[in-house]
Amino acid sequence: MKTVDNYNFSGKKALVRVDFNVPLDSSYNITDDTRIRAAIPTLKKILNDGGTVILMSHLGRPKEISEEKFSLKHIVKHISQLLGVPVKFSNDCIGAGTKSMVEGLQKGEVLLLENLRFHKQEQAGTKSFAQELSTFGDVYVNDAFGTAHRAHASTTIIAKFFPNNKVFGYVMAGEIENIRKVLDNAHKPFTAIMGGAKVSGKILIIDQLLDKIDNLIIGGGMAYTFIKAKGGNVGSSLVEEDKLDIALNILKTAKEKNVTIYIPTDTVVANAFANEANKQTVDIYSIPSGWMGLDIGPDTAKKYDEVIQQSNTILWNGPMGVFEMSNFESGTKSVAESIVKATKKGAYSLIGGGDSVAAINKYKMGKDVSYVSTGGGALLEYIETGCLPGVKAIEEE
Ligand code: AMP
Repeated sequence: MKTVDNYNFSGKKALVRVDFNVPLDSSYNITDDTRIRAAIPTLKKILNDGGTVILMSHLGRPKEISEEKFSLKHIVKHISQLLGVPVKFSNDCIGAGTKSMVEGLQKGEVLLLENLRFHKQEQAGTKSFAQELSTFGDVYVNDAFGTAHRAHASTTIIAKFFPNNKVFGYVMAGEIENIRKVLDNAHKPFTAIMGGAKVSGKILIIDQLLDKIDNLIIGGGMAYTFIKAKGGNVGSSLVEEDKLDIALNILKTAKEKNVTIYIPTDTVVANAFANEANKQTVDIYSIPSGWMGLDIGPDTAKKYDEVIQQSNTILWNGPMGVFEMSNFESGTKSVAESIVKATKKGAYSLIGGGDSVAAINKYKMGKDVSYVSTGGGALLEYIETGCLPGVKAIEEE
């Protein structure tokens, strides 16, 4: 893999695509700077070599050419503090003004360009826009895993203009290495744990995984679609009526591929979608009418723990229940604890995709698993398609 470690940036201008799409409060203070912190090692490597850094990023989803709340100027000071050097800012990401600022940069200096998405050509992947950006650097570094599944100008199209000078930053390299460890070199038994709200968002991923895994553990809202498809009474639980056939098909394909599927046997049900609702634990095939399943039950959690403890590779995507409500978080917390325990015994565990990351962070267990992916959509699309446009663009000649 071509990374910043394989490149000497001395005397070079590095055009670095980062993911500085951080949340800001109404006074434009950064409320979570994880993404900026993650990019610092890559930027330090370039500066320590004696290079210059030109930073490109998007922020939010602006609709206009320029919107105050989506300006990257709000984060300049914070990047500078984290990096320990002054950071200059250009009010646009292209144009004559930006060009002259880039040309005036000295060795060791850092320039942040304004939000790429203020130009619609960024998301359209317009070649001429990518070409103009490319003139600002001698080398292109992509460290924005969160947008690597998008063929945008700055994430994918631009790489063509650097045929021999394009490398991954440390964030990208770490993500790719860890996904490949799971998808290409999994130490068996390999168990995937899928949860979350709906089956519909997970069908493609499950299809892909059935060729690679030994066990598939199902939880969360999507479990009730499987139970209903198998003839159970699910009360008012979340069910996708139009996905019952798909659920049965997943069960059939898994059998053909020798994958063991684990579906909950008991469930914690509530008489309303609220933390303070009445609750009881029941057989998942006999949920009383008017009650909805909001978590897996203790027998299920125990069985899932046994399977997880026997696994050498674990991939977890999606909570086992409505973990945001403390009365319905036990199943999700229990699975997180099981994964931590298996990891301690030597299993490799990758957690990724939206809410399972939120869950593992809620329980402060992020450091006790092998890897927590930072790119929800990008990770899931990597599993679905086997690669990502932003990754391919760096790797192809
Ligand atoms: P996803 O983005 O598909 O991974 O879904 C995550 C969301 O699914 C979380 O906000 C959970 O609260 C929700 N969820 C998990 N289990 C259930 C359930 N049994 N009923 C309704 N929502 C659920």
